[in-house]
Amino acid sequence: MTISLSRIFAPKSAPEAILEPPPESKKPLVLLAEDNETNIITMVDFLTAKGYRVTVAHNGIEAVGRAVEEKPDIILMDVQMPVIDGLEATRRIRAEPELSSTPIIALTARAMPGDKERCLAAGVDLYLNKPVRLRRLLKVMEERLNR
Ligand code: MN
Repeated sequence: MTISLSRIFAPKSAPEAILEPPPESKKPLVLLAEDNETNIITMVDFLTAKGYRVTVAHNGIEAVGRAVEEKPDIILMDVQMPVIDGLEATRRIRAEPELSSTPIIALTARAMPGDKERCLAAGVDLYLNKPVRLRRLLKVMEERLNR
C-alpha cells in the first residue's frame, strides 16, 4: 500500500492558514459561576473577545451541574453565591473524578483572614480578590491552560 506524499505534505494556502480563526470547538471552554448580572456581562464580553467560549452558572448548584455536563477546560468560581457557595460547589466538583484536576480560580469579594486557606482546602487552584483585574485574570488563566 502506498501513501501519496503529496497528500501528507499538501501545502496549505498560507494566508488562509494564518487568517483563519480557530474553529469554535478548539476554543477553551470557561465555566463562569457568578450570580451578579453586571459581572457576568463584563466577563462574558471580555472572555469571548479573548477567544474563549463561556458557559454561565448563576449559583453553586448550577455550577456543579454544568461542570459535570460540559467538562469545561477551566472554571471561574465566585465564592459568594446563592444556594450553595463557591467553596461548597468546588468541593462537589472536586469529588467528581473527571473534574479532579480541572483548574478552578476562585473570585472573592471578601478579604477575610483565613479565606485563602479555606479556598485552597476546598480545592481551588488559586483565588483572586474582587474587583478582578481582567488582564491579571487572563494571565492567570493562560498559565493554567498553558496557552
Ligand atoms: Mn456573588
